[in-house]
Amino acid sequence: MNPNAGSERSQTKLWLVGQQHDKNTHDLREFLSRNRVPFEWVDVEHDAVLRFGAGEHTPGAKYPVCLFPDGSRLESPSYRALADKVGLRTRPSQVTYDLAIYGAGPAGLAAALYGASEGLRTVVFERDAIGGQAGTSSRIENYLGFAQGVSGAELVERAHEQAQRFGAEFVIANEGVGVDPTAHAPYRMFLADGSEVKFHAAVIAVGVTYRLLDAPGIAALTGRGVYYGTSISEATFYRDKNVFIVGSANSAGQAAVFLSSVARSVTLVVRGDSIEKDMSDYLIGQMRAHSNITVRLQTQVESAEGDAHLTELVLRDSATGMSERVSADGLFILIGQQPATEWLRDLIRRDVRGFLMTGSELTAGIEAVPGTTRSRWWPLERDPLPFETSVPGVFAVGDVRSGSTKRVATAVGEGATAVRLVHEYLAAHAVADAAVLEAQPGHSHADGASVDLPPFLKGGRDLANR
Ligand SMILES: Cc1cc2nc3c(=O)[nH]c(=O)nc-3n(C[C@H](O)[C@H](O)[C@H](O)COP(=O)(O)OP(=O)(O)OC[C@H]3O[C@@H](n4cnc5c(N)ncnc54)[C@H](O)[C@@H]3O)c2cc1C
Repeated sequence: MNPNAGSERSQTKLWLVGQQHDKNTHDLREFLSRNRVPFEWVDVEHDAVLRFGAGEHTPGAKYPVCLFPDGSRLESPSYRALADKVGLRTRPSQVTYDLAIYGAGPAGLAAALYGASEGLRTVVFERDAIGGQAGTSSRIENYLGFAQGVSGAELVERAHEQAQRFGAEFVIANEGVGVDPTAHAPYRMFLADGSEVKFHAAVIAVGVTYRLLDAPGIAALTGRGVYYGTSISEATFYRDKNVFIVGSANSAGQAAVFLSSVARSVTLVVRGDSIEKDMSDYLIGQMRAHSNITVRLQTQVESAEGDAHLTELVLRDSATGMSERVSADGLFILIGQQPATEWLRDLIRRDVRGFLMTGSELTAGIEAVPGTTRSRWWPLERDPLPFETSVPGVFAVGDVRSGSTKRVATAVGEGATAVRLVHEYLAAHAVADAAVLEAQPGHSHADGASVDLPPFLKGGRDLANR
């Protein structure tokens, strides 16, 4: 049992006071809901005086304001400040880990579960909230074993609890911002708060983030009626409203079905001339069964308009060239994604789209370094293991991996498999790789110390055969 598990689930009840159409308020609502921190939302424009009385509603307060039962308050806090206050872990408890995992989506959660359950000192760093994209899915219908489907939030909550039960440590709102690439294991990882930890092996499972829609008004109204992805916690705000979704893949179809149960009308805005190409049949069938869902093909959002929040969209029909102004209360954008790897740009080899290259991709058909048989993109004579990146001992899995299938089941499978490969790396390669890298120009040991063997290697246990 993880002694920290209790402290990672907040019991503090708090009030989040803000404006519905304020981006910071929206972001904090999402952060709290997705990390399952109990809170009560108070719309300052409608409820504050009633709920708190004039004395507690401070004019000029910097919204959103978080009020706590002990009388303390945080005005417009950062995720980390709020996480600290409600008792979520924001800093690692150890200096060195066997396995560091970046990202707590399905891939990172699976790696955490198998890493911790197989005796590795495991830490997971998550930038925002446990669950990644899967945690935002209203209903996952194609995950093995859930015949009636399962909400993404429930699936990831179960996985999180399971991984914690085996002793994986989760650090929230303090993401990895870099790895020292000039060294060998144990590597140093730099965190957003300026601190660092060491690890013997790492799994990068940072997934993807939404591609931005480039149209006038979109950026200004983001968080104020315009959202990337579907925000389950926001759905109640759209009861009896007219909402629009841009996108044609499964995530857009799921959002349409989910929102159709509360909204008056849901319009799917699709640039192409069909949805059959990108969307699963079962979702198309479900959309057809909801009479308040309309699909507008060959249509694009020309602009978004509104002062305090979104009120209108201008849609352009690319077949006729005609533009139409429509009343809109919400716009959800799901138009594809890009890997969250900008921070790894000069550290780990990426493909042209920014996905992390792994395994044989690093050596196949790649020019060798003169005088050696090794590839320019891989520093050792031995071949990289499957899922191993251009930094030995650092693996990439899930959506962020070049060539990956973007599915929950695949992410989970890759996360679990990566742990098996981490064992193989630690048992068979870590020490020899370190010696080779040490001898190479441009490589230096992170702290000048001698190679620090993980405890289980010193004990001689053969983890590679697990
Ligand atoms: C709305 C929606 C519905 C979907 N429905 C389905 C479905 O029904 N079936 C299905 O199979 N798939 C579905 N998918 C796809 C599926 O969710 C993804 O394929 C899966 O979540 C990928 O998992 P992952 O762990 O690789 O990455 P992600 O889920 O993207 O998780 C990555 C995590 O890493 C974190 N992160 C990013 N950068 C850093 C950093 N520097 N440091 C630390 N953490 C970081 C992110 O905050 C995130 O939590 C859906 C996706 C969406 C968006």
